[in-house]
Amino acid sequence: YRELLTYSGNLSVIGELAAGVAHEIRNPLTSLRGFIQLMRINESRPKNIEYLELILSEIDRINSIVGEFLLLSKPKKMDMEEKDLHVILSDIITLLSTQAILYNVEIIKKFHAQRPIIICEENKIKQVFINIIKNAIESMKQGGQIVVETRTLSNFVLIRVMDQGCGISSEYINKVGQAFFTTKDKGTGLGIMVSLNIVQYHKGHMKFISHKNQGTIVEIQLPIQSCR
Ligand code: ADP
Ligand code: MG
Repeated sequence: YRELLTYSGNLSVIGELAAGVAHEIRNPLTSLRGFIQLMRINESRPKNIEYLELILSEIDRINSIVGEFLLLSKPKKMDMEEKDLHVILSDIITLLSTQAILYNVEIIKKFHAQRPIIICEENKIKQVFINIIKNAIESMKQGGQIVVETRTLSNFVLIRVMDQGCGISSEYINKVGQAFFTTKDKGTGLGIMVSLNIVQYHKGHMKFISHKNQGTIVEIQLPIQSCR
């Protein structure tokens, strides 16, 4: 493995991002309009069923883009609570287990004996691990194992998600985490950008260690409140 990138993570040019969002949403809107127009021309064409399917998938796409952006709002102080990180991780692994089975992927927990307690907005921190573990699953078209490891150090916890997937080439590693960068047909390219922002709100760090065809390690550090 080679460490390729440590995020410094500034969401630089807001205007660029806004233009990106507008563009990403306009594309599906344009095709929605097109399909609906086609359906209007002949209300009883058998092809309409096909158009309806496409309309639904375009709506889903807009919905997931908007959904990911909503996560960029700053957590409210009142929503920050003490949580057991191992419980959060176990919940997410259970949540993703059906998807993992579909990909022939086994998720292995290697949790530190001490239970790290973090102060977080639970739904947002959960979204980070959903995004990271989903990416790991999606990278393993041939199946394999994902190890989710935690290590509790003096005042922070280190979480590692290690996969045996396709890895990230040096050409792309600097683009991962940029808004809308995706190598997937149905990707939004927002998962890592949003996750990085959430980790930073929680005063943590995120790092990618990856090499083409050799899997990926995503390392997240979060401050801990205490251990149990
Ligand atoms: P999306 O999953 O919608 O493509 P993300 O922001 O989650 O968007 O990821 C951006 C890109 O980073 C992915 O398309 C993929 O190329 C790369 N990537 C992220 N995580 C991994 C991983 N574990 N293994 C391989 N590639 C990854
Ligand atoms: Mg993703």
